[in-house]
Amino acid sequence: MKILFVTSEIFPLIKTGGLADVSGALPAALQALEQDVRLLIPGYTQVLDKLESKRTVASFAVFPGQPEIRLLSAKMPHTGVPVYVLDAPQYFCRVEGPYQYELGGDWPDNAMRFGMLSKVAALLGSAASPIAWQADIVHCNDWQTGLAPAYLQLTPGKHAKTVMTVHNIAFQGNFDSDWLVPLDLPQSCFDMHGVEFHGYLSFLKAGLHYADRIVTVSPTYAHEIQTTEMGYGMQGLLTVRNGDVSGILNGIDEEEWNPATDKYLAAQYDNNDLAPKAECKLALQQSLGLEANAQAPLFGVVSRLAYQKGLDLLLECLPKLLDGGAQLALLGSGEHELERRYQQLAQRYPGRVSVTVRFDEGLSHRIMAGADIFLMPSRFEPCGLNQLYGMRYGTPPVVRRTGGLADSVIDAKAANGTGFVFDEADSNALYKAVLRAIDSFRNDKKFQRIQLNGMQRDVGWRSSAQRYLDLYRTII
Ligand code: ADP
Repeated sequence: MKILFVTSEIFPLIKTGGLADVSGALPAALQALEQDVRLLIPGYTQVLDKLESKRTVASFAVFPGQPEIRLLSAKMPHTGVPVYVLDAPQYFCRVEGPYQYELGGDWPDNAMRFGMLSKVAALLGSAASPIAWQADIVHCNDWQTGLAPAYLQLTPGKHAKTVMTVHNIAFQGNFDSDWLVPLDLPQSCFDMHGVEFHGYLSFLKAGLHYADRIVTVSPTYAHEIQTTEMGYGMQGLLTVRNGDVSGILNGIDEEEWNPATDKYLAAQYDNNDLAPKAECKLALQQSLGLEANAQAPLFGVVSRLAYQKGLDLLLECLPKLLDGGAQLALLGSGEHELERRYQQLAQRYPGRVSVTVRFDEGLSHRIMAGADIFLMPSRFEPCGLNQLYGMRYGTPPVVRRTGGLADSVIDAKAANGTGFVFDEADSNALYKAVLRAIDSFRNDKKFQRIQLNGMQRDVGWRSSAQRYLDLYRTII
């Protein structure tokens, strides 16, 4: 099967969150299932810099009257998955983030940037493909690719089938309707049964309306997005399309996230010998200026600092936990107010709290290995990857029972428990769950059972990639 996987970020080329990890790993898993899977990504500076042996395979104008862009072909590092790069420096070669500039504002031409990405994806799935390859399936990811199913449906003739994966329904790509003309969309599709969403041109809505199938990244989230509380306005459409919506839990890249081979760690370990994990903890404490104390429960957090992640709830109960001797190593960036409050906490608790506000791949691995307990009190979580990494690294997660967290973490009350689960999105419920985690931590035998349960779980991509493949087959 010829599959085009189109995405706006991909590990290890460019990453702001879990989408990049999924884009790096799922296509490789599909390739291992002997499919002809190829990637399409924007030619950001980082992407052009990191990809070797690029060659131009086509030059063409994406929209009428625009200058020509180049389509480059290369191979992904490590996995060798073929990748097409949309090389349009004017749109993608910018020093700051892929979606936003440094101060947190969206790039004002995001509609054009990701409209182009969607249009090129659609071309590669149609008879008008600019190269000698036409996809059978165009697999879209999040709003940045949401117009591709619309372009394909609006194209006469035989074309690819489409799957739209929703990694987070809160991000929708809603733009002024003035963009219809530059994006070469007919006025007729600006309708409730089309790309229109409350008066805006919505990329995500377009994807949800026109795609042949909708997938989200966990079964529980597939139900949640059909409710008023968690559908972010898309619940009506999703309920109507209920039969086309399914949930497939993300896996993890088991080579990249493997404590037995992880090059970022001070010591490697596996489920046969957890002892070197203590070295990772000590090294982490020393490098972050925390008191070197094996007995102090060390919490790890690696996260976007956003309302979604519930880290304001954590702030409310942390002082009690820190006063009791616990430590916190937090890595994250995002909302400035949360950054500020966590930095204040670090000042108040020197030696107990370390807050690093930046993106740091190596430190994220070191926290995963060096912490005793990983905290993820999300208000909603489509899938979440960090709890999976935590389990793989013998660092049981404390999570709220929502979305992919509910689907992947088994509470320690069960014999096969892998973490600590709480229900209400409030700081007291979180506090109680963390206390349970600390209790277990103080009981070596019990804690080790929870660690090993997590480390032995199958969290790889194989079975989920097979599910995607089965889904492609049903729609072709
Ligand atoms: P989301 O995609 O909602 O941000 P996920 O848990 O699905 O959340 O994935 C987040 C990914 O981004 C993980 O791989 C996590 O380790 C990584 N990450 C988040 N913030 C940082 C950071 N500041 N530095 C390094 N990695 C980070």
